[in-house]
Amino acid sequence: MQTRSPLSAKLARCGRGLTAGLVALCLAVSTAGQALAQSLPVVRDAEIEALVRDYARPILKAAGLGSSNINIVLVNDQSFNAFVAGRRMFINTGALVTSETPNEIIGVIAHEAGHIAGGHQERLRQQLARAQTMAIVATLLGMGAAVAGAAGGVGGVAQAGGGLAMGGAEMARRGLLGYQRTEEVTADRSALDYLEATGQSARGMLITFKRFASALSLSGARVDPYQVSHPMPRERIANLQTLAEASPYFNKTDPEALQLRHDMMRVKIAVYTQGQGAAARIFRKGSGGLAAQYGDAIATYLYGNPRSALQKADALVKANPKNPYFHELRGDILVKANRPAEAAQAYASAVKLDPAKSGILRVAYGQALLATGKQESIEKAVDEINKGLERDRENISAYRYLAQAYGQLGQVAEAELATAEGYFYSGVYKEAKVFAARAQMKMKRGSPAWVRAQDIINYKQPGKKKG
Ligand SMILES: [Zn+2]
Repeated sequence: MQTRSPLSAKLARCGRGLTAGLVALCLAVSTAGQALAQSLPVVRDAEIEALVRDYARPILKAAGLGSSNINIVLVNDQSFNAFVAGRRMFINTGALVTSETPNEIIGVIAHEAGHIAGGHQERLRQQLARAQTMAIVATLLGMGAAVAGAAGGVGGVAQAGGGLAMGGAEMARRGLLGYQRTEEVTADRSALDYLEATGQSARGMLITFKRFASALSLSGARVDPYQVSHPMPRERIANLQTLAEASPYFNKTDPEALQLRHDMMRVKIAVYTQGQGAAARIFRKGSGGLAAQYGDAIATYLYGNPRSALQKADALVKANPKNPYFHELRGDILVKANRPAEAAQAYASAVKLDPAKSGILRVAYGQALLATGKQESIEKAVDEINKGLERDRENISAYRYLAQAYGQLGQVAEAELATAEGYFYSGVYKEAKVFAARAQMKMKRGSPAWVRAQDIINYKQPGKKKG
C-alpha cells in the first residue's frame, strides 16, 4: 500500500552511509529476552525540527512545561499522528504535510500538551521518561502501528508493527495509548487555554479534529493512528467549536514569515517522501513562490542533474542569503557532486546562520570535512561532530562518522568509544558494552572517556528483569 519513495528506499538500507539533509536513522529494538532488530523511520532534519520546536515552545511554556526540555522526534510515516511521551514529542511527517497552516499543527501540539499537563497516561510517560535510549520509543511506535492496524483491519499496517513485539501489541490492545473520553475533553480545554494565552487561534485544531471526526475519514481504507488514540465524537467537536469561536483570536492567522517556513517544510517533506511531482500537488493553487522554488531545487538535487540543482540552490541563497537551510541544501548538492571542500564551506555558512544551533548541521559540516581526506580537515571534523553531539546526543549516524574520523587519525580508543555510543543510542546494548570494554582497556583509568565507557558497561536496560 505504501509507495516506495526515495526516502523510504534510503531507510530500507539503513546502516550504510546516508547523505545529509533529511537524515534517516535506524533504531534497533531489543525486547525482553531476545534482541530483535527493527529499523524505525526516524527522520532528522535541522529545518523541520527547528520549526516544530518554534511551534511548540510557547505552547509548552503556557502549559507550565517550558522547563521540561521536550525533544521533537519526527517519524517518517505518511499517516497522521502526533503524541507526547516522556520528554519526547513525536510528530509524523504525514501530520506536517497534511497541515496547511502552522496553526493546524500548533493546535495539535496544544492538545497533546494538554494531555501531558493533565497527567494522562502518567504511568506510560514515566516509563518513557526513564528510558535512556530510543529503543523503548521504537517499541511504542510499533505499538501505535499495531493499534492502527487492528482498528482499521488493514493487514499492511498491522504488519508494520506486528513484527515488533507481541508484548507491545498486547499492551496496545489494553488501550494504553488511547485516551479516555474525559481526558480528551480536559485536553481540549487546556489546549484552548494555551492558545488563548499565546494569542493564537484554535481554528487549526478544529480543522484537524473535524477532519478526523468526519465519516469520510472513517470509511477510508486508512485509519490514522491519531484518530484511534483520540476518540472524536461529534459532540466533542461541536463543544470545541463553540468555545474556539468565542476567542478574540479565532480569526487571527499565522504570521506570513511563519507560513512561509511552514510551506517550505511541507514541500521538503513532500518531495523527499512522495517524489518529484509532490511540490506541484502542494502548491496547486499556484501560490508557491519561494517555497515552490525551494521544492524544485530539492527535487532537482534528489532526482535531477547536480549542476542544475546547484544553480537553483545558488539562486535561493542569492534571494535569501540568511536562510541557513538554503546553504545546507548547497552543501548537500556539493556532497553529492563529490566536491566535499566546497560542501564544507556551505555547511559552515549554514552552521553560522542557524539560530536553532542544530547539532545536525555541525555533523553535516564535520562529515564534509572528513570526506576531504586531509589531516587538518579530519581534526576539525572531529571537533565539529563532537560539538554537534553535545547538542544532540542521540544523533546515531554522527557516531559512525566520528568513529571513522578518529580511526583515520589513529585514535583507536576514541574510535571504539564512539562506536560504543552509536550502539548504545541505537539500543544495541550488547555490542555497545563490547566496544566500550575494548576502548576502556586503552584508556587512562578514571579519565572522562574511561568513566563514560564504564557507564555504558554498567548500563542496565529499564524494564528488563535480569541479565
Ligand atoms: Zn487527545
